[in-house]
Amino acid sequence: MTRTAIQHGLVLTMDGAGRIIQDGLVVIEGRDIVAVGPFDAALAATCDAVIDATGRIVLPGLINSHTHLCMTFGRTIGPERRLLEWLDLIMPIMAAMDEDALYAAELLGCVENIKNGNTSLVENIFMPPQAGSDIEDAAFRALRDSGIRGTVARATEARAFAPRFCETSAEQASRVARLAGRWHGAESGRLRLSIGPLLPWVLDEAGFRITRRIARDNGLALHMHVAESPEFNRMIAQHFGRDIRQVELLEEVGCLGPDVQAIACSDVSPHEIELLAASGTAVLFDPPTRLFWGTGFPPIREFITAGITCGLATNGAAANCGQDVFESMKYACATAKTAANDPEALTAARALQMATVEGARAIGQPDTGSIEIGKRADLITIEARQPHLSPLFDPQKALVYSARGADVRDAVIDGRLVMRDRKVLTVDEDALLAEVDQVARRCAARAGIALPELRITRESDHA
Ligand SMILES: [Zn+2]
Repeated sequence: MTRTAIQHGLVLTMDGAGRIIQDGLVVIEGRDIVAVGPFDAALAATCDAVIDATGRIVLPGLINSHTHLCMTFGRTIGPERRLLEWLDLIMPIMAAMDEDALYAAELLGCVENIKNGNTSLVENIFMPPQAGSDIEDAAFRALRDSGIRGTVARATEARAFAPRFCETSAEQASRVARLAGRWHGAESGRLRLSIGPLLPWVLDEAGFRITRRIARDNGLALHMHVAESPEFNRMIAQHFGRDIRQVELLEEVGCLGPDVQAIACSDVSPHEIELLAASGTAVLFDPPTRLFWGTGFPPIREFITAGITCGLATNGAAANCGQDVFESMKYACATAKTAANDPEALTAARALQMATVEGARAIGQPDTGSIEIGKRADLITIEARQPHLSPLFDPQKALVYSARGADVRDAVIDGRLVMRDRKVLTVDEDALLAEVDQVARRCAARAGIALPELRITRESDHA
């Protein structure tokens, strides 16, 4: 089994003691971390491969707890629309994608995540179900081929949504069982499946209970958008015909619990925060996207005070226009401070936990998120010898307030070197970028979206 040494870096372990090691050594054997400590020449000599992290910070890979790679082709289309108008604009592009186009969009998203230092992601996919095949296979294949650790959170819609995206609960049950059989736990546990409704009103009460049962039957977590804005809570009351808010509804239909992941949670009452906390439900924040839509932002300090496990996310590139969890950390601190009028409302140290070890727990991956013996080897190195990170007095604050995804140099996922010196080793990036430019334009044209004819030049243009 290959042993790899990551040596001479400043190691932020993100373990329970918050250990930071100067001139450190991390040894990886197979998929696992087998040693963490100060540099030890004798131990390093037992390794077959070396990653020199001199001048770099070694950090657990970041956890992007919620995104929509299936919407990557919608990047920069509609970021100045209202949320639901934006969704209506993007959906025809997705409906125009066949399995090959979806694979290209998903692979592009995986590469973008890896290059930002995200070693784990949750892909909340919603695509029109197809007769005779499961379109989600394309997402799983892209995750598998890119080398990233990922969960495909399959969204379901049954009513009040574009009809071609909708399915019956029987169709949902059979598709989920097939996908779980093929992919849940595949690649030695690197790939997983979870489920949930895309929007709170696309299921009725019975639909929620059935989805909960399907999740339990297949050993899956529930992953869903929750209370995205006051407008959404008003629409919930309208669709369910009574004065009820989303978290209250989820409690009523048995859809809260430690295996439930609630993304957004912008408009929640104190009582709803109590319900989330009492049930052990995890909450995932995507502050850059919330601020972009202008739909408000969650009172993060109240969630922390209530003892809720929190993760951080980018949301999809079509909403956020990027996949940089460093941005999410910084925006999370900024929004928490603004909401509470208190500069200590979310510290850099806690934001970094949410992006690593706490986020890993939030999405049900406690075997990742920190650099500790026995955990899966998901790590990144970050180049610290740069003007915007100097002087490096406080590495945690520097990472949260000053660093960006492009500072990540190497990424190891499940013990495998997936990016070295910013070159992704699992995918031909140049070929992929050229391909997606064409495929995405074709899908947009098929969806009737007019795009400017502006293009960048490529080497092939000069031939
Ligand atoms: Zn989302």
